[in-house]
Amino acid sequence: MNKKNILSSLPSVDEILNNDKIISLIKKIPRIVVVNNIRTCLQNYRNHILKMEESALINFHIDKNFLVNEIVLKSKSFIEMNLKEVINGTGVVLHTNLGRSLLSDEIKEQVWAVASGYSNLELNLQTGKRGSRYSHVVDIIKFLTGAEDALVVNNNAAAVLLVLGSMAKNKEVIVSRGQLVEIGGSFRVPDVMEQSGAKLVDVGTTNKTHLWDYEQTIGEDTAALLKVHTSNYKILGFTEEVDLKDLVALGKRNNIPVIEDLGSGVLVNLKKYGLTYEPTVQESVALGVDIVTFSGDKLLGGPQAGIIVGNKKWIDKMKKNPLTRAFRIDKLTMAALEATLKLYLKEDEMTKKVPTLKMLTETKESISKRADELYAILKENNVDFSIEIKDDYSQVGGGSLPLEKLPTKVIAIKHDNLSVSKLEESLRGYSVPIITRIQEEQVIIDLRTVQEKDYHVINKALNHIIVK
Ligand SMILES: *Cc1c(COP(=O)(O)O)cnc(C)c1O
Repeated sequence: MNKKNILSSLPSVDEILNNDKIISLIKKIPRIVVVNNIRTCLQNYRNHILKMEESALINFHIDKNFLVNEIVLKSKSFIEMNLKEVINGTGVVLHTNLGRSLLSDEIKEQVWAVASGYSNLELNLQTGKRGSRYSHVVDIIKFLTGAEDALVVNNNAAAVLLVLGSMAKNKEVIVSRGQLVEIGGSFRVPDVMEQSGAKLVDVGTTNKTHLWDYEQTIGEDTAALLKVHTSNYKILGFTEEVDLKDLVALGKRNNIPVIEDLGSGVLVNLKKYGLTYEPTVQESVALGVDIVTFSGDKLLGGPQAGIIVGNKKWIDKMKKNPLTRAFRIDKLTMAALEATLKLYLKEDEMTKKVPTLKMLTETKESISKRADELYAILKENNVDFSIEIKDDYSQVGGGSLPLEKLPTKVIAIKHDNLSVSKLEESLRGYSVPIITRIQEEQVIIDLRTVQEKDYHVINKALNHIIVK
């Protein structure tokens, strides 16, 4: 057959609509969705045929069954949720690809109440007049950080852009060369600064920047000194950074504000819980930094947000910047952020109730006990697999504490008749996808980021795998 004949023998949309499988599909899925997918699949098939070599067409026949199955699959996946819950077996706590921080169970009612009902988002309940959406979190952020004022936007990248655009447009901002970081997804500090209209002046060298580097560069056009917390990498060895204290003093002497992009934004002293010290927001504020920005969904453990704290004078200026409107956070985020911040009021409870802190501070003994539990379930029901418990390390992730290695326990799985990559792929393809990593020809599931409710899902997923 030639191409023309083959193409003209493709079934019509109406013909496919009369197929038994499609008729029963339309009972479950809106007809309009099915028709749309019939058209798409027919077009794909047509394109496929058009691309084929003439010689390959000799024995070619239209495979109607294949076509119908494609349409059924496409239509089913079309109505399923594409964005869905997965199980994080990677042990990377702040996994950017998996949504970073988990919100606490404690706050779900508050968030849902605001989401599904009307709220006083921008209404002052005392006066009955228009209120500010930021008012809901300003007092608690001030209380937790010691800052004079606060503002919240969609994420920390937006916060940096807003801060620089409001404080240093068409002026110079001095930053150490060692702090010109890329934050991932090709998001680079110098590029953001350029967008803001501020002129970047880098000083020092990659490994060393001295106070006099800043001092010599300060001039009439200098609008701010910027410190970027290099939270996602460390330069080790022969290095020197200017102490924040000295930078603040230099700023004060010259009447130039100091801005700090802290990135991770931790509010608790992690050292108390056996983790590496990470500068806290309140320390920067106490040292006299004029404006500090940080993320809501990194070490803070809340929703995606960018939090700006510092001098009221500057925050007022930012509030008048049209970018604030463009970057404004929505009510879901606001509800989740306020509720998460409230969890910080009870110091003894926050490491139990903020999932990010809970996972980061869980002891190896506790993880070990949970590994035993998961092991027992898997071992009993999946005799074909070789399963063991191993020592390993988890990571903080999200560009925070890059050198931190958290001792953990992992479940290592393999199967004699199934490649480790197939095993990883099958778990990832399960109805509740299980994200694992491969190490030494085994699939590794790190218990640190796996919750108790996940155990039976993992068990079912393994049961589900058919080894031919
Ligand atoms: C992560 C990070 C950002 C970006 O924060 P998002 O909330 O992801 O937008 C900016 N600066 C630093 C130093 C960071 O670590």
